[in-house]
Amino acid sequence: MTKFNSKNREWLEEKFAERANFNPTERLLYSHDIAAMPNLFRPLIGKTVPDAVVQPESEKELIALVAWASKNKIPLVPRGKGSSGYGGIIPTRKGIVIDFYRMKRVVSIDKEKELVTIEPGITWEQLDKKLKPKGLVIRLYPTSYPSSSAGGWLAQGGAGIGSYEYGWFSDNVESARIVLPDGKVKDISGKKLEVVADAEGTTGILSQLTVRVQKLSNIKVTAFACPDAYAITRIFQELIDQKLPIWSLIFINPRMAEMKNRAPARTHHGHPVESKIILPAAYIATLAFREKDREVVGDKLPKIIKKCEGEILSQTIADHEWENRFKLMIVKRLGPSLVPAEVVVPLDKLGDLMEEIEKKNQPACSKRRGHH
Ligand SMILES: Cc1cc2nc3c(=O)[nH]c(=O)nc-3n(C[C@H](O)[C@H](O)[C@H](O)COP(=O)(O)OP(=O)(O)OC[C@H]3O[C@@H](n4cnc5c(N)ncnc54)[C@H](O)[C@@H]3O)c2cc1C
Repeated sequence: MTKFNSKNREWLEEKFAERANFNPTERLLYSHDIAAMPNLFRPLIGKTVPDAVVQPESEKELIALVAWASKNKIPLVPRGKGSSGYGGIIPTRKGIVIDFYRMKRVVSIDKEKELVTIEPGITWEQLDKKLKPKGLVIRLYPTSYPSSSAGGWLAQGGAGIGSYEYGWFSDNVESARIVLPDGKVKDISGKKLEVVADAEGTTGILSQLTVRVQKLSNIKVTAFACPDAYAITRIFQELIDQKLPIWSLIFINPRMAEMKNRAPARTHHGHPVESKIILPAAYIATLAFREKDREVVGDKLPKIIKKCEGEILSQTIADHEWENRFKLMIVKRLGPSLVPAEVVVPLDKLGDLMEEIEKKNQPACSKRRGHH
């Protein structure tokens, strides 16, 4: 790794003009991700302001940048929308942040095969808008849908809305194209996708993805509440055993329901004043399914829920939870901040895990009370 010098800057200015940014304030914005770095780690990581931020417009420009940076030993950090919270976009060795803002084209749509080829910087919301006129829609998306990129999700890895039916995002990627350090381009598909999925951009920089999509259909939603995590686990197991045609399943714990109730309504930037919906202090699940499956879900679901001590919530709550599914961060306003985490648990251990989280999260005073 060499120190970024004036010659490096000149090369970037010549090649990218105003799309190479050296402004100290703007570079500062690219020095972190969405999470608050724990104070304990901060001294170990040091300063993370990159030397430059570059926005390539095409794969050709990306190839030139990668080959040049490798030759000059300048670190590169690819960045989609910066909505991840695990440090993958933090330029810990400074160098150049590649911002994919301008690489967001839809390259092709194959309606028959239900495939779409896209550049990595496109957001899910932008992609949906392009797909809908063709009668197609994304199979699954993260709850950061309005502000996260396709490339970022493959590189970060994860599951989201629609994963009940479709699994991990990487299982829904047909192929990907990466730019390697020497500037060569490689198309990968099938099992080999493992090399780039969840790799945080360390194995190559994504320049294109072909993603499986689905036919557009009307979606219906319903919500139910359960007194404890064991009851909701039993419901989830029944949904699986009875093969209910559910597309998406999201659930929150009572603490989250309580925080959502407390979160102040957004009134700034012209947000419309919403009527406040009060959620019960319970485990709450929101299910989404296709309209064509309405009868079968409507017939079986109430019986399952009743059997497992749950209750169906009003349609107003279901619609509200669904419409606000992208607005999780509203609870951040209660402060001080959030630390993102992700766990994968077998369904039969979900009850134990949620109980443990509940116990560990108890405020100190109520814990002490419990000891008396
Ligand atoms: C409110 C909220 C809700 C969320 N919900 C979900 C959810 O439901 N499911 C979920 O899985 N995650 C979720 N996330 C986490 C995050 O939004 C996702 O991981 C998202 O896919 C990241 O996309 P991004 O464009 O913001 O990527 P970034 O944060 O910019 O980057 C993520 C990683 O990908 C790498 N990368 C980006 N672009 C490229 C590229 N072209 N080539 C190679 N590597 C690249 C980066 O270096 C970094 O390591 C959520 C986050 C928030 C804030």
